[in-house]
Amino acid sequence: MKIVDLHCDVLEKLARFKDADFRNDSRLHANFERLKAGNVMVQVFAIFIHPNIPQERKFQEALRQIEAFHQNVLKEPEMVHIKDWKQIDELKEGQIGAVLSLEGCDAIGKDLEKLKMILDAGVKIVGLTWNYENELGYGTLEDSTKGIKPFGKKVIELLNERDIIIDVAHLNEKGFYELLPLAKKVIASHCNSRTICDHPRNLTDEQVKLLVEKGGRIHVVFYPPLVEKERKTTTIEKLVEHIKYLADLVGPEHIGFGSDFDGMDPLSITNLSNAGEFPNIIERLRKEFSEDEVRLFSQEGFMNYIRKLNKAS
Ligand SMILES: [Zn+2]
Repeated sequence: MKIVDLHCDVLEKLARFKDADFRNDSRLHANFERLKAGNVMVQVFAIFIHPNIPQERKFQEALRQIEAFHQNVLKEPEMVHIKDWKQIDELKEGQIGAVLSLEGCDAIGKDLEKLKMILDAGVKIVGLTWNYENELGYGTLEDSTKGIKPFGKKVIELLNERDIIIDVAHLNEKGFYELLPLAKKVIASHCNSRTICDHPRNLTDEQVKLLVEKGGRIHVVFYPPLVEKERKTTTIEKLVEHIKYLADLVGPEHIGFGSDFDGMDPLSITNLSNAGEFPNIIERLRKEFSEDEVRLFSQEGFMNYIRKLNKAS
């Protein structure tokens, strides 16, 4: 069963470990050989800037990760850079679509030109914040009652103009509710259900319903503390609970995967610790759901979503 995964942080590692080879370096949970072993057909690669990097070096770090994407990820002939969503339907057997996303706009400071440069590199999904406050708004670990800042609204306008999908994964609650009516396209790339696991990074039932009403989707994340409260490790069973709950809430066609591989070391779900282990979750889902439903979670729901976007634009 082919897989679409909306989130991994392998670019951050490639930029940090200067000698890492995307093909088979075992430190990379989403390396090329593991993506192949896991049957991944579309992998989103996030540009993630660690909050410890000083503000004046954040933009440069974003450029380094884009360079790592070109030099290291795309050097594999089977990796295809998806610059236009239409390319996803044209992927040939054996090819893997590689999509760039920006995990929070911390790198641009208050400079729209910097965001334009990053978008020009082919970024298709953008989150306004990571966990903390930036020039656009407030992340999930900040005050949940503070909303999007004026510069954040300017950024949303630009993202709408460019048909970019806006990711709510790390945005605080007030920001989420303010974003929905302003954004053209929204998604939650790596979040779970807050009813099952109470954490500000997870979405409430109301948020999930509104997101889906807006035409968006929620892709479940494998980061243990978001699967099971305050846990460093957890089980595939527990993750499946989120999928079952969300599928009951809004329908299986709106749920997918956003692993967060390479963004959670040393934490991991048992038997789901790298991209090569995707078949283990598929096998488990087959015990709970029909083959058609499992295919919706693994790739078809997202493919249908993209086809609809393509038609609309
Ligand atoms: Zn994240």
